[in-house]
Amino acid sequence: MDHDALRPGDGDLMSRRRALALAAGSAGVLLGGVPAEAEAEGPAAKPARRFDVVVVGGGPAGLAAALVLGRACRKVLVCDSGQGRNAPAAAVHGYLTQDGTPPSEFRRVGREQLKPYDVEVRDGKVADARKVASGFEVALDGGEVVACRKLILATGMADVLPDIQGLRELWGKAAIHCPYCHGWEFRDRPWAFLAPPEATVEVATLLLGWTKQLALLTNGPSEVSAEHRAWLEKHAIEVVEGRIDRLEGAGGRLVAVHLEGGRRLERDVLFVRARLKQASDLPQKLGCTLLDQGMGAGMVKTEPSGATAVEGLYVVGDASGVGVTSVASAVAEGSGTAGAANMAMLIEDAR
Ligand SMILES: Cc1cc2nc3c(=O)[nH]c(=O)nc-3n(C[C@H](O)[C@H](O)[C@H](O)COP(=O)(O)OP(=O)(O)OC[C@H]3O[C@@H](n4cnc5c(N)ncnc54)[C@H](O)[C@@H]3O)c2cc1C
Repeated sequence: MDHDALRPGDGDLMSRRRALALAAGSAGVLLGGVPAEAEAEGPAAKPARRFDVVVVGGGPAGLAAALVLGRACRKVLVCDSGQGRNAPAAAVHGYLTQDGTPPSEFRRVGREQLKPYDVEVRDGKVADARKVASGFEVALDGGEVVACRKLILATGMADVLPDIQGLRELWGKAAIHCPYCHGWEFRDRPWAFLAPPEATVEVATLLLGWTKQLALLTNGPSEVSAEHRAWLEKHAIEVVEGRIDRLEGAGGRLVAVHLEGGRRLERDVLFVRARLKQASDLPQKLGCTLLDQGMGAGMVKTEPSGATAVEGLYVVGDASGVGVTSVASAVAEGSGTAGAANMAMLIEDAR
């Protein structure tokens, strides 16, 4: 699709057009029709079908949004391209009523509970989307273009793992990013952890809640300050200098960390705080702003409601800088944003 038509200020233009159409007594906009001047801006392929809301992403955030919108009598399309962030893990932890449920089962039940409503769930990627006067046009893989009034992106984040041999195979199993998600299963066991030099004490303080058997891996020349070293020593945390050669695993378990020079450090867990990046390029293609620092770096800047600077476009779940990156937060954000998007449509229709 051509994105040249997507310019900052289109939202204002749309509001002005809607106001003009209403002043002229046109019911077309209220009933979801596309005004004549907007058609000129549309894509080459005419939208085959029209929805109130398209939700891109069928993880916890997207499914929660679809459920609330379905129950609000909305016609919804959910498109999902596959596995979410927690797919490598055996279970979802820390989500009330679902603690220990496999991620795939969580999603299966989520989809099942959408069946009573006017919600269509489609497996496949959204290839592109663009803002038009009446809302959005969304291109699905396979070529179909659909239209919607509001667009919710629940496309998630992707973990950028450090380049360590054997890490990907153990990710979500014995190489973990979050002690709240996986720490209980490894409590009081020997852990190794990677942390940037300036965050060493902060990360170690967190992990001490689950185990006292900690070793810091510098994975290269050590830049840990003398002050931090003294703190680590006080808590009996060994600083293991040198590059990691590879991780030795067996059936999803971590057996040992091998270091260049031949040292073999037996550990049950490697904690890694991976950098996050947007899993989809849709937020940026549609004109969203990404946060550039802090824990939310790389996430979309939104209002607490999930609303973005692009009128009618919402971003929820891990992809947005609101809340924390967890299943519970994703569900809460999806539910709340669905209410906000629905209310926006009710207000438009009542004008
Ligand atoms: C290994 C691991 C284990 C975790 N374990 C836990 C845990 O135990 N408890 C917990 O609370 N949190 C856990 N988390 C965090 C949790 O996975 C996320 O917070 C949660 O999945 C976020 O939900 P979401 O709906 O925002 O995104 P996701 O669950 O990542 O879902 C996003 C979906 O959007 C789809 N998508 C992306 N782009 C497109 C597109 N263009 N078209 C169509 N679909 C698209 C993706 O395929 C994906 O299905 C874990 C994370 C990791 C990395």
